[in-house]
Amino acid sequence: MSFASLDLIDGLLRTLDSIGYKTPTPVQKQAIPAVLAGRDLLAAAQTGTGKTAAFALPLLQRLAMEGDQAASSQVRCLVLVPTRELAEQVYQSFHTYGFNLPLRCAVAYGGVPMEPQLAKLRKGLDVLVATPGRLLDLHRKGALEFGQLTALVLDEADRMLDLGFAADLDALFAVLPAERQTLLFSATMPESIRAMARQLLRDPLTVQASAPNTAARTVRQHVFTTDKRNKPELFVHLLRKEGWGQVLVFVKTRKGVEQLLGRLHDEGISADSIHGDKPQLARIKALKRFKANAVQILVATDVAARGLDIEALPLVVNFDLPSVAEDYIHRIGRTGRAGAEGEAVSLVCADEVELLRAIEKLTGTVLPRQEEAGFEADHRVPSTGTPSAPAVRAAGGKPARSAARPAKGAAAGPTPRTAAKQQPPARDDTPRPAGGFGGLKEELPPKEKERSRGPIYGARPGSPGAGTGASRGGPGGNRGRDGAVGSAGTGGGGKVVVTATRGAKSAARAAGRAASKPGGRGNKR
Ligand code: AMP
Repeated sequence: MSFASLDLIDGLLRTLDSIGYKTPTPVQKQAIPAVLAGRDLLAAAQTGTGKTAAFALPLLQRLAMEGDQAASSQVRCLVLVPTRELAEQVYQSFHTYGFNLPLRCAVAYGGVPMEPQLAKLRKGLDVLVATPGRLLDLHRKGALEFGQLTALVLDEADRMLDLGFAADLDALFAVLPAERQTLLFSATMPESIRAMARQLLRDPLTVQASAPNTAARTVRQHVFTTDKRNKPELFVHLLRKEGWGQVLVFVKTRKGVEQLLGRLHDEGISADSIHGDKPQLARIKALKRFKANAVQILVATDVAARGLDIEALPLVVNFDLPSVAEDYIHRIGRTGRAGAEGEAVSLVCADEVELLRAIEKLTGTVLPRQEEAGFEADHRVPSTGTPSAPAVRAAGGKPARSAARPAKGAAAGPTPRTAAKQQPPARDDTPRPAGGFGGLKEELPPKEKERSRGPIYGARPGSPGAGTGASRGGPGGNRGRDGAVGSAGTGGGGKVVVTATRGAKSAARAAGRAASKPGGRGNKR
């Protein structure tokens, strides 16, 4: 199947051709015709499935075909995302895909200067990608109006609830026009998201792009057991011995990130970090350098676990296991993307056995264990109780490459979320609501039922008040990492900052070509 057979317009087809997209991914095949037809959508889809293009392409087409002009302070299509990094990435995707269309796109999130963003809003926008807290601030300041809004996208909706944006979302939904197209994307489908879908969506098409734990099945995973105190040295040893290239390393706490970073710098290894204590511009810079291969190691808390698309990242290392098993899947999903080979290595000490057990249960996978000579654990990591691969001593050779295999008795389908109870939550994580980690099992309610939505979800006219899944689902009031507004990625004059994603790089080349032609659009945004 080609993109042309999905009835995409020429301006989009030319862009897709120039960035090398040949065939639509499964989620694109399902979503694009439905969104073009104006339907609401409920999609269980993670980053890596092509979900961004699945909503961006048809929405850009609709906006271009409608031919309206956004008046000052108005926005026609709003895309809400949980983190600043994802906002930047999704914005870059809109910018890339919409390159040949006369549409104005911008991004708004916290931690960067507000003025350039306000200037963009004053002119009116066709697409605004934003994190919820700042978006609300902009609206309350009178800088942003929704009278012309025709489409709303909630991207990584589960993460937005996890990060405590429920109250902000409720407040936003209450001021959006009732007549609009709404697309809800979520990696997981806990009850809070299903409740949100019932409230927000009208007769939606439901799409399941892939099982939530797909990454766990496609990425080669293994564990090195060791003592906690050995981990920094073991990491450096493996890096050198295995000749690792770029590595994304996950550490549980911000302090732990900085400690490992200091150690790597002491060893003369090029490394940078991302965590919630760093200023936003420093986070953006670190990510850009890593994506551009200007730095070998990126050490991060779970702030980088979701959504980020890093081209051809070969390896993720879990220096610490995550406190919530589900985050393991998101972490390792940063590698092995778009069919590329991926590897995930976890350094596990005795205290982390419960976390390991939770991960194995969630993924239905027994992670093969091995030990590295000279770094054996004095405090043995107990068996997880699942039938596991025997410990393999690497004895100076290459680590065993045995693939993770399904655990006997592991749930084949949706599995309850398995946060390990004995461990404190990672400090970068806000408390998470209880909820299933299941796929989309439940049928959505019939149209009539959905129309009785509560005001909290932007209440379309005639909706009686109803409770909010979002409010129930997340610990309200915590604004996560979204505190201010910015327009990073675009300079005040509309300069495009291109990150090293595949599409963006191709677009940069295309932009160069277009700008060099008379009448080219290269610099207009
Ligand atoms: P996403 O799931 O939106 O984060 O996309 C993951 C990656 O797949 C991004 O690098 C996209 O540029 C890329 N991608 C999306 N759709 C396609 C496609 N149809 N063909 C090739 N690459 C794609």
